[in-house]
Amino acid sequence: FMMLTKKLIEIRSILLSIDHNETLKLPSIVVVGSQSSGKSSVLEAIVGHEFLPKGSNMVTRRPIELTLVHTPNSDEEYGEFPQLELGKVHDFKQIQRTLTDLNMAVSDAECVSAKPIELRIYSASIPDLTLIDLPGYIQISNRNQPETLKIKIEELCDKYIQEPNIILAVCSADVDLANSTALRASRKVDPMGLRTIGVITKMDLVPPSAGAAILRNSEYPLHLGYIGVVCKAPDDVDGNMTSALIRNEENFFRNKFEFNQRGVNVGTATLRRKLMNVLEQGMGRSLYSIVDAVQKELEEARYQFKVQYNDRRVTAESYVAETMDSLKHNFKEFALLFGKPQVRHEVRTMLEQRVLDICAETYWSDPKVSDLPKAASDDIYWLYKVDLASAALTKSGIGRSTTQLVVDILMNNMERLSAGEPFNYHSETRKQIASFTSEILRTKFLTTSDQVENTIKPYKYEVEVTDLEWQDGVKRTVALLEKELEMCDSMGNNIKNAVGKTKLRGAIKFLLDSEREDQRRQERVRQQQQDGNTEPYIEYASLSDEEEAIKPLYNPKLLEKAREALFLRDRAMILKYRIAALKSRQCKTQENKQYCPEAFLNVIAEKLTYTAVMFIQVELLNEFFFQFPREVDNRLVYELDRQQIQRFARENPSIMKHLDLQERKGKLEDVMDKLNYLVRKQADRQARAKMG
Ligand code: GDP
Repeated sequence: FMMLTKKLIEIRSILLSIDHNETLKLPSIVVVGSQSSGKSSVLEAIVGHEFLPKGSNMVTRRPIELTLVHTPNSDEEYGEFPQLELGKVHDFKQIQRTLTDLNMAVSDAECVSAKPIELRIYSASIPDLTLIDLPGYIQISNRNQPETLKIKIEELCDKYIQEPNIILAVCSADVDLANSTALRASRKVDPMGLRTIGVITKMDLVPPSAGAAILRNSEYPLHLGYIGVVCKAPDDVDGNMTSALIRNEENFFRNKFEFNQRGVNVGTATLRRKLMNVLEQGMGRSLYSIVDAVQKELEEARYQFKVQYNDRRVTAESYVAETMDSLKHNFKEFALLFGKPQVRHEVRTMLEQRVLDICAETYWSDPKVSDLPKAASDDIYWLYKVDLASAALTKSGIGRSTTQLVVDILMNNMERLSAGEPFNYHSETRKQIASFTSEILRTKFLTTSDQVENTIKPYKYEVEVTDLEWQDGVKRTVALLEKELEMCDSMGNNIKNAVGKTKLRGAIKFLLDSEREDQRRQERVRQQQQDGNTEPYIEYASLSDEEEAIKPLYNPKLLEKAREALFLRDRAMILKYRIAALKSRQCKTQENKQYCPEAFLNVIAEKLTYTAVMFIQVELLNEFFFQFPREVDNRLVYELDRQQIQRFARENPSIMKHLDLQERKGKLEDVMDKLNYLVRKQADRQARAKMG
């Protein structure tokens, strides 16, 4: 029979989960009364538990929106704070502490806040009701409770006692009703008392005849009437407080004829029944307006869903699946393109660079290098040098560096794959991808680099080269040096363009002159020392006027550039000689490799490249290509629970919007179905009532 309230409370919590907007309003019972009128005691008597904050210092500072849910088939009793993530709270003392904390979080200065606390209580022994407890009206302002506070409380209460809410005006029996702030406020918005119930507390404090007179309601009539209660347990309570309370009240009213007359309503049980009835009727009246409001919201949601998404549904699960599929797809494409030839190219480029570095260090900076083509074939200096250079290449930690090179390339590419849409929204997932990529690669790193190092070991002692390999090597080396030469030239030109041709020439001349001057000076010092002259060579400390004049032209930066240009010029010259040497007959065969160290090193580099890549391919790449997609599935798909999937999908703002609207529409449809059912029931009931 109380179905409507129950169903509508369910509906309200669904509506609250999609938005807190106030258009979808269902009636609640609003409890108003002066401080100490016994408001809390009445509420607790209705719920049958002590759970409200106690104390004299304005303990109710925020509205408490209390939803009571009747759970007939369960002996579990608990509360829930939907705004906090506390779960079920079975201990009512704990509920009381939480409410106290939430209220006290409002500062003394602010004192009252309009932000409601939501609390739901589930129990088999409570009716389905929605109650709102408000801060008590204060009578007199004093230093701690200024006039503004009084107004603040009244405004807050005024907001809640509007339609369609039902007003529970709590008045103490020992205070003249004429002085009741609650009744005065209610009369303003509900003059006939059509939705106001008067609750007279502390009936034990006045003589029964006086009490009964109040309840008969002749002075300030309310359509819904007054109910008298006693909500104070006897002083000698031990054990169950609520049953003591009920017994006390029953004892009080039972044997007094004043309270056993028509038109006199007493007792908490009566109050409960009354509240249920009145709320159910209020719900009945609100039903149609709620149906209208929900219908409107639903139509809007459907329209938006059609317009924005063409009625296409998404789920968080499908989004995760699609996103990871596209990642794996892109990965597959990368894996197809990054085969042996590409790896070889990368490794070769790195080793060629190393060859150039070694040549520059061992040969091109050696002033004697221009004599190399004319050196005797058994010249120990050059024979030794070529061995040194090839050892520098083969013993430079090829295993580690080539493996590291490929690892870096893979890491970079995985980062690139996970950088585009929609991964830009999923930074946590990106980090995860980077972390398991490096994890897979790390587990393969040592074995791969050891394998490579082992297999190139023979080259550290001897390199056998076929004629074909040699010719090929020479050709590649010439090309390599030509490229290097080109680079020297272009860098030299850049400097020339930046500094200016004439200025650069002047600076270079200055450098060369002072270099020559330095040499001369050293020569003179040596000469003097040889001559046995102990007098130190005297430098002229001051510069000539001419020198003084040009000095500022050559600032350190310019000289630095000039030095660089000079170096590039020398290097270019050496490279030209070396290219010529490599192209000469001397380098046609490998016989006298000491004449063509660049080519020899390059041939070795090519052999190292082939060998290294072969093992990197088997030990690292194939393994990685096999493992990566599996890790994507394991870590980013299978391992996620529902909540993580939701969170992931909602990181993408457009998916979040889509999901929200879809969910809103779904819930509104669900609510609409439920409401339609209620409307039909209600119509049936009314038809039956008419016939009966
Ligand atoms: P609130 O400030 O309106 O919430 O009032 P409370 O419920 O805290 O009650 C104020 C005081 O009145 C407390 O000391 C209660 O014990 C006392 N009180 C409440 N109901 C009754 C009652 O029915 N009879 C008597 N004698 N005292 C009551």
